Amino acid sequence: MRMSGLLLRTLRDDPADADTDSQRLLLRAGYIRRAAAGIYSWLPLGHRVLRRVEQIVREEMDRAGAQEILLPILQPLELWQRSGRDVAYGPLMFRLLDRKETGFCLSPTAEELMATLVASELSSYRDLPVNLYQIQWKFRDELRPRFGLLRAREFLMKDAYSFDADLDGLRASYQRMYNAYCSIFDRCGLTFRAVEAQSGEMGGDVNHEFMAVAAVGEDDFVWCKACDYAANVEAARRDHSWHHTEVPAAAATVDAPPMEEVHTPGLPGIQGVADFLGVEPSTLLKCIVFDADGELGLALVPGDREVNEFALARAVAPRKVRLYTDEDFAAHPELPKGYIGPHYPGAALVVADVSLDAPRAWVTGANRVDHHARNVVLGRDFAVDVWAGLVTIVTGDACPNCGEPLSVDRGIEVGHVFQLGTKFSKVFGANYVDEHGDEHPIVMGCYGVGISRVVAAIVEEHHDDNGIAWPAALAPYDVHLLALPGRGDAAQAVVAAAERCYEELLAGGFQVLYDDRDASPGVKFADADLLGMPVQLVIGAKGLARGVVERKVRATGDRSELPITEVLAGMLAGAAT
Ligand code: ATP
Ligand code: MG
Repeated sequence: MRMSGLLLRTLRDDPADADTDSQRLLLRAGYIRRAAAGIYSWLPLGHRVLRRVEQIVREEMDRAGAQEILLPILQPLELWQRSGRDVAYGPLMFRLLDRKETGFCLSPTAEELMATLVASELSSYRDLPVNLYQIQWKFRDELRPRFGLLRAREFLMKDAYSFDADLDGLRASYQRMYNAYCSIFDRCGLTFRAVEAQSGEMGGDVNHEFMAVAAVGEDDFVWCKACDYAANVEAARRDHSWHHTEVPAAAATVDAPPMEEVHTPGLPGIQGVADFLGVEPSTLLKCIVFDADGELGLALVPGDREVNEFALARAVAPRKVRLYTDEDFAAHPELPKGYIGPHYPGAALVVADVSLDAPRAWVTGANRVDHHARNVVLGRDFAVDVWAGLVTIVTGDACPNCGEPLSVDRGIEVGHVFQLGTKFSKVFGANYVDEHGDEHPIVMGCYGVGISRVVAAIVEEHHDDNGIAWPAALAPYDVHLLALPGRGDAAQAVVAAAERCYEELLAGGFQVLYDDRDASPGVKFADADLLGMPVQLVIGAKGLARGVVERKVRATGDRSELPITEVLAGMLAGAAT
């Protein structure tokens, strides 16, 4: 492609409303343009990247045995009313009426229509398993469209749906999709982890979110760089679900002086008390007050750690947990807020983090306003009812699988795989008849990739101060050829050499972006770095005089020279390594 004819306007300055690197760079490099909040136009270069991601997804879906179809975007609202997701999606769904006042929506996803389709097309166990997918625009009226393509209102999604006769079949289909997702995100050059999601409202079904590691991600997750362990911060385990009700033996052996009260006026916070007493916050015992089915509970963690509310809930299940709020404390003026210790007489349930199982004398609240207690010893001065991994995991904690230090990072959810079961099949009558003539609901799974979100996630990972650095598998063009004829005598020879080189590379099967514009070298270099093709080839008068072309690898900045007569061979050799 000759840049002289390309629809491309790069922006010198950062757009004012860009809130992430990917949005800033994709706008500056002329890949996308904003049409409205969360709605984008894809210009030629951006469209090529989108198509390449789409193609990788398509190849991996096809390889996994899924069949591509295309469902309408405009879907009858009635289907969504039947599944109840009309209400569940609420204002997230774009709705409209046709001329007869029949309700429609712009598809935010497609379980309903897929189940309907399969209900009418399949009927026998012989038809199963089947996996159908589509690559289609989805619409969600996000409360806060932001971060450009990352949280858009119109976005390209690959959504696949598996249909199996039973749970074993579903598990096999799920595993195939899971593996395909790993291949997809590997091929896209993303650093990612499959995170087992906290099974919440969806009914406890198995599901994994594929998280691309990125500072702008909206989800915190814990992962180990040494093994495969990854989990949502809420679901993360501190160790092997160690959980018992005996007093750990070690703690009882501390030989500490008796508990004593200290006057700590106006110091309800951990740091304040630690400074006042000249001790480390980790030597304080934090007592978080909660309600468990109407009873008062205390959650104990070291002063430098936070309580993971989900872990607490798991530890005391089936009792329902609610951490005390300011209103709760206001309703219970007898509680010395900020000065509560583990020996509070009114506590019906004391839950402690497993790390408290060490011979130690603690500083804690003294259960009296403006007072703390020193030399508080587990087993002697207070008892624990439930032990659990209670603290929120932080970077550096040991991996529960391999013991290496964990990282806590932010992730972009680029994919989601989900074992749905028979929820939708039952509503839409997607049944099959088994070999004995008995009818059963088909067991479904659903699998989404945010294709347009992936484009942004790649830029988040692959860029520097000068612009984008596309992984070769996704770049709009393989090579960016820059002709720098200058104003000297050699100008014509440079242009002729660049033209020859262009034709040769095209004939050799390369996708080439050729900067044949009448622009200064500075502009051409800056644009080449901004646009981010993996390899730049520069033909200028000086090099030509020596019979060489300069080759620069965008991602690393590595430069080398190729004889002008061997540009194609050099590129082919480079492509092979
Ligand atoms: P999120 O939690 O980010 O809102 P979701 O869990 O609601 O996403 P799914 O219903 O699981 O999204 O959709 C499948 C995939 O579609 C997601 O994993 C994500 O990659 C993509 N996706 C979802 N919402 C958006 C959006 N607003 N913009 C771009 N991509 C999106
Ligand atoms: Mg999701």
